[in-house]
Amino acid sequence: MLGLYNYMKAENKVRTHNLPEEAPLVIGIDLGGTQIRTAVLRGATLLSRVNLLTGENPSPERVIPRMFESVEEALLKANISLSQIAGIGIGAPGPLNGRTGIVYSPPNLPGWTNFPLRNAFAERFQIPIFVENDANAAALGEHMFGAGKGSNEMVYVTVSTGVGGGVISQGQLLQGITGSAAELGHMTIDWHGPRCNCGNYGCLESFSSGTAIARQANELISLGKADDLLSYALAHQPAHASANTPADNSTLAVTTPLHVNARMVAEAALAGIPVAQQIITLAGEALGVGLVNILHIFNPELIILGGGVSQIGAPLLDPARRIMRERAMTVPCQSATIVMAQLGSDVGLVGAGSLVYYHQ
Ligand SMILES: [Zn+2]
Repeated sequence: MLGLYNYMKAENKVRTHNLPEEAPLVIGIDLGGTQIRTAVLRGATLLSRVNLLTGENPSPERVIPRMFESVEEALLKANISLSQIAGIGIGAPGPLNGRTGIVYSPPNLPGWTNFPLRNAFAERFQIPIFVENDANAAALGEHMFGAGKGSNEMVYVTVSTGVGGGVISQGQLLQGITGSAAELGHMTIDWHGPRCNCGNYGCLESFSSGTAIARQANELISLGKADDLLSYALAHQPAHASANTPADNSTLAVTTPLHVNARMVAEAALAGIPVAQQIITLAGEALGVGLVNILHIFNPELIILGGGVSQIGAPLLDPARRIMRERAMTVPCQSATIVMAQLGSDVGLVGAGSLVYYHQ
């Protein structure tokens, strides 16, 4: 074995960002396309949590007041006053510039074009405000409080609806000149590959994301090449899929096109459906190619894998490991350990809060 995939905690070595025993209180905001999640935190501990919907048409004019409201509510729930808070960290969908706090034009936040998010918050709250793209914030969270604790050379890769990432090099978050560095999901895996949302072709995201896995499955089903998978999906579709339909599921199967999602494909793969296994294997191999690139470019000590799709486990990760063994240069491959992320679904909030600790 090459020392890859040791599913173990990273050893706790020298920490880059030592926090005092009692870390200052901070606020973390995880802004997504559909939800605003806000928490008062001390280190990685949540003292309160507020979830608000961004609502229809999530323009800044509508969302910013909701974000302000979520901060007030989180303070109230934690019984903390703003004067006790050291700063607010905001993780938002990229692309954005973490240095200026300007959000350029995120595809899943229509209407946000060159919006000065940090300034809007600084005017309202008069305490330090830090803005970073959500994947970078998550990488920082894992670096300071999760699987990357103690490692100054780590790469975080999150595989979920999309693929994102963040790079810590020499203990610092790699940002690039405009804050656009470490868009790991948009590295090219196959330049003849499918068109990606970003405009490029054959990005890692267009092979290994949950969206890509689902797309593959549904394409094969529509071509009549995945009948076993279709039968499995129809037999195992979640109860809520038929909640608003007549009780007879056989009618549903005929009249309603079933959209197979990545979770169903993964479950079918584990149940031994060959076409599902092939789809997951392909996604895993593409991930492996991406990880080889990461090893060669960053020579990290740790690669931390997060996101729901990475939870598929062996059917996805074994092919990735095989590709790495076969293709990566020996030294960077042997010196890297791959671990699973530790912060789970709170990574966005802890990551946002960690921005305050990182910058202060
Ligand atoms: Zn792309």
